[in-house]
Amino acid sequence: MIMTTTDIMAGPVICSNPSIISTTGIIEAPAKPRDYYLQLYERISQGLNLDSIKQEFKGRFLEYHDERLRLVVRGYVLQAIFYHLTGIPFCESRKCILHNAHWQEDLLHAQIEMGKLCEQHQNVLDNL
Ligand SMILES: [Zn+2]
Repeated sequence: MIMTTTDIMAGPVICSNPSIISTTGIIEAPAKPRDYYLQLYERISQGLNLDSIKQEFKGRFLEYHDERLRLVVRGYVLQAIFYHLTGIPFCESRKCILHNAHWQEDLLHAQIEMGKLCEQHQNVLDNL
């Protein structure tokens, strides 16, 4: 069983029975680009307006109501399914949608730009 929630968890997915996928966790848990935090800190310390910073980094991380979220959730559902089928939900490859990304840019690369299983995990799925 796979459940989705908007509650904040330690990360985007808890693979168990049931598995729980947090859309809030997908947005909040993987880190935004390092430069985003550096510029945020600089502007806060200088008392500057923060409105423009999200616009400058737009597209480089997921935001609430982001249309890419439904594609990203697909990868986390597959992680939960792989957990149930093989006991191993994640992949080391940044090119695989089973990659457990710690950075938003890695998440978007795996889930959107690549958008598929790596060859190894495709073979696992084909041989089930
Ligand atoms: Zn893989």
